Amino acid sequence: MIDKKAVVLFSGGQDSTTCLYWAKKHFENVYALSFLYGQKHAHEVELAREIARKAGVEFTVMDAGFIGKLGSSSLTDTTIEMDKEMPEGAFPNTFVPGRNLFFLSIGAVFAREHGIRHLVTGVSQTDYSGYPDCRDSFIKSLNVTLNLAMDEQFVIHTPLMWLDKAQTWALADELGVFDIILQETLTCYNGVVADGCGECPACKLRRQGLEEYRKRSTI
Ligand code: ZN
Repeated sequence: MIDKKAVVLFSGGQDSTTCLYWAKKHFENVYALSFLYGQKHAHEVELAREIARKAGVEFTVMDAGFIGKLGSSSLTDTTIEMDKEMPEGAFPNTFVPGRNLFFLSIGAVFAREHGIRHLVTGVSQTDYSGYPDCRDSFIKSLNVTLNLAMDEQFVIHTPLMWLDKAQTWALADELGVFDIILQETLTCYNGVVADGCGECPACKLRRQGLEEYRKRSTI
């Protein structure tokens, strides 16, 4: 029973929605876990709820507002102007320090309470935007730590770890959810659904991946 359940860390963006459907393919019972972490565009949680409802998975929101209060990021602080490009030798200010560490730790406790062993997250080292907590070494290290912390055998799945954005679009297509990802997900840092604002780094990455995927799939 324990191996039939998975919890997906779910924001309602392209990556985690693709992971939600990936999890539905591999597990019988899928739970979506979203977070309020002080993000400026908190309505993303309502969009996530709607996507989860349509996907037929149980949806839970956790309040992790302390994350936004602890550290500074242009995704949580309205007074910081967002970096449009990657600054040299530093993280972009869209980096939210500790976010994935806290999300996965909270997710693991949630999993334990629900008799779940499998956690799924949409982090990717290929298009990791300079965020250290999207890298494979961090995820593997945290997986060991969480197991030691609770004497559990959690398995953190990262289906997108080595995919670029074009391959993530391809995976959505394979899973039969290309249109859902295209039309209903929110990736944009400025809170605009689907195609987004077109200007922020998240929109650029998403669009470049989509163009690349369309190019590759017509060859
Ligand atoms: Zn945008």
